[in-house]
Amino acid sequence: MPSDPPRPLLPSPLTEADDARFTRHGVRLFLKRDDLIHPDLPGNKYRKLVPNLRAAAGRPLLTFGGAYSNHLRATAAAGRLFGFPTVGVVRGDELAGRPLNDSLAGCAADGMHLCFVSRADYRRRADPGFLARLLPTTPFPGAYVVPEGGSNAAAARGCAELGRELRGAADVAAVACGTGGTLAGLAAGLAPGQRAIGVPVLKGGFLGAEVRALQVAAFGGPAGSWSLADGFHFGGYARTPPELVDFAADFGQRHGLAVERLYVAKLLYALTELTAAGTFPRGTRLAAVITGRP
Ligand SMILES: *Cc1c(COP(=O)(O)O)cnc(C)c1O
Repeated sequence: MPSDPPRPLLPSPLTEADDARFTRHGVRLFLKRDDLIHPDLPGNKYRKLVPNLRAAAGRPLLTFGGAYSNHLRATAAAGRLFGFPTVGVVRGDELAGRPLNDSLAGCAADGMHLCFVSRADYRRRADPGFLARLLPTTPFPGAYVVPEGGSNAAAARGCAELGRELRGAADVAAVACGTGGTLAGLAAGLAPGQRAIGVPVLKGGFLGAEVRALQVAAFGGPAGSWSLADGFHFGGYARTPPELVDFAADFGQRHGLAVERLYVAKLLYALTELTAAGTFPRGTRLAAVITGRP
């Protein structure tokens, strides 16, 4: 890697959060502060991208995302920090002629080449034929392709380290899920007797199959014990109704951190509800992975 960006904070800190909504049910809540790993590549994005940068071996990186994708943002930042070109394929060709939102403007400022495609084309993003036609239309036809959300075998193996860092420190480790790579790795890295819970932030019910497929690709088969807690997507990706926003602000105030809303707020809300419903036996040590920052 050509340049030397700030050192990552690894293993990430684990802090106990004193919160009556959990302690009254005999549950100890811990925050696994992956948001502090790196100022420009926070959280699971660092854990997922770095193994892919190694695999890319200096080639430009091409990847996919929606207009507000944290993954595109992180890939662009990695390109700037480590000094390699990046291409972001963005869902929605209607965005092409418009001013960029803050997230995409940040990508462009980091030097990412943005390429807008129709929703129909975007749906074919994993189709090799489509990729073979797309790559020559970009400035870097030889780019190393990372799938949407950055979830592939290398990413899942990178996230296994998150599970290993939590060995002995928690009974249950919970994480918000977009494409599922973080959960796939987390579960694989935990010790026997520990289990992982994923909270999907998208509607759809496809995530379980994705996580299983990622574990097969990364570890050769199912790995560790995990389950999904459905019903906390608040209407779907990027939907943040006032109730969730208020919850996030309140949680942030109580525990002195800025709560990211698209993923982390939904995770913490889910854990509060599951705990209130008596899901966790008394004495459970529950680690919530804080995967990112606002
Ligand atoms: C990308 C992201 C996730 C989702 O990770 P997946 O591996 O795609 O499931 C969770 N939290 C935050 C803050 C993210 O940016």
